[in-house]
Order: sequence, then structure tokens, then C-alpha cells
Amino acid sequence: MTMNPIEQNLQNVREKIASAAACGRYPHAVTLLAVSKTKPVAAIEEAIASGQRGFGENYVQEGVDKVLYFREVMPQVALQWHFIGPLQSNKSRLVAEHFDWCHTVDRHKITQRLSEQRPAALSPLNVLLQVNISGEASKSGIKPADLPALAATVAALPHLTLRGLMAIPAPESDYARQLAVFQSMNDLFAQLKLHYPQVDTLSMGMTDDMSAAIAAGSTLVRIGTAIFGTRDYPQHV
Ligand SMILES: *Cc1c(COP(=O)(O)O)cnc(C)c1O
Repeated sequence: MTMNPIEQNLQNVREKIASAAACGRYPHAVTLLAVSKTKPVAAIEEAIASGQRGFGENYVQEGVDKVLYFREVMPQVALQWHFIGPLQSNKSRLVAEHFDWCHTVDRHKITQRLSEQRPAALSPLNVLLQVNISGEASKSGIKPADLPALAATVAALPHLTLRGLMAIPAPESDYARQLAVFQSMNDLFAQLKLHYPQVDTLSMGMTDDMSAAIAAGSTLVRIGTAIFGTRDYPQHV
């Protein structure tokens, strides 16, 4: 049987993850999150048919539409939906009500809202704190120095579970420099784990820098282009 293109791409990405993990200093399991933003449900269906279960979405309404669609057409398949885009306060309720994870928590106000808005019938929302690891090059994420206070806030909220850290470093083509930035994230992750035993997730690595991210200790890579092809409309709308 010939594979569909997405199935083939997924297989290639899984192989790349396995070899990066084998060469890295941290050969623990790395989860593959398929970033399906801007892609139609048909593409997600192909990925599901190839065994993929975790999906990342950047735009709240588009993501919610997909969550509801798959709950309707495939209620028997347990998918995990991760919100990975910039989160505005006025959209927090939709994230709290429909997603399993939020990777982009970077301020106190949003943590309060997400916890209050998380339906009591659902398990707590899994939260990653987004770190601005490239300094002034990026506007999202908190400064490393402010991490302990935000972590303490999240850990104290009843409907959130602090699971770890996330970063989107400034684009960098040199492997050694990619690695250095990811290693500084892994240092912050190690610090956080000392205080919070439930912390187990370091979300870093995209299509162009996944090997360095895994070598530096990533536990979850967020891959869009290498699975679904290039996107038709820009990443930041
Ligand atoms: C779009 C996006 C990705 C996937 O990027 P690719 O380069 O297509 O793999 C990962 N993480 C975030 C936060 C994104 O916005």
C-alpha cells in the first residue's frame, strides 16, 4: 500500500526525532506535536489515520472549530489539543473550555482567567510558561528572572497544572547557536523541576531547529511544515 504524503512526512519526522534523541545527551522520550494551523481538517484526518494524536493550533477560533469538528465526527478517538499561539485575555475562555494544553502563558492576569474559566468537569488545563529566551528579539514570553513568581502563581491555581516551559527562539540557522539557546532553556527547566515534581514538559523545536532542540533536552517538538507542507497564509495574521 502506498503511503499518503502526510503519512510519509510523519514517518520521516519520527525517524528524525529518533536519531536526534539517540545522538543527544538526553535520550528520553520526545513527543511529536503536529502543528495544524491554517491546514484543513482533511489534512488532520490523514495525520490521525497515521497514528498522530496531538495537534497544535495558533488561532483560537480556528482551533476551537477543529476541536468541535473532531469531537463530533470521531468521538471515539482521544485527541490532545494544544493552544500554541499568542493569547489575548478576551480569548482565554475559549482556550480554557476547549483545549487540553496552553503553551503560551506569560503573565499573571491570564493565569487567573484560565483557571477561573476552566470548566470544573474537565481535568485541569496543562500549562507551559512561555519564556522570552532570545531577549529583545521576541516580544512574547516572560523574562527568565520572572519565571519563579509566575510558576508559583500557576502552581497555586486549582484548575491549572504547571507542566513546564515553552520557547520560540529567534530564527537562527547555525546549529551551535541554536543549541546554546536551547541549552539555556533546559537549564531553566531543570531549575523548575527542582521545585515542582509535576513539571515534565519542555516544549521547544520546530521544523528548522528540531535536532538542536532535542539534543538540548526538548521533550516535545512542535512541527508544522515538515508534516503538512508550507502554509498558504502567513504565520502571524
Ligand atoms: C507555526 C508554529 C510552529 C510550527 O512551525 P514549523 O516551522 O512549520 O514547524 C511551532 N510552534 C509555534 C508556536 C508556531 O507558531
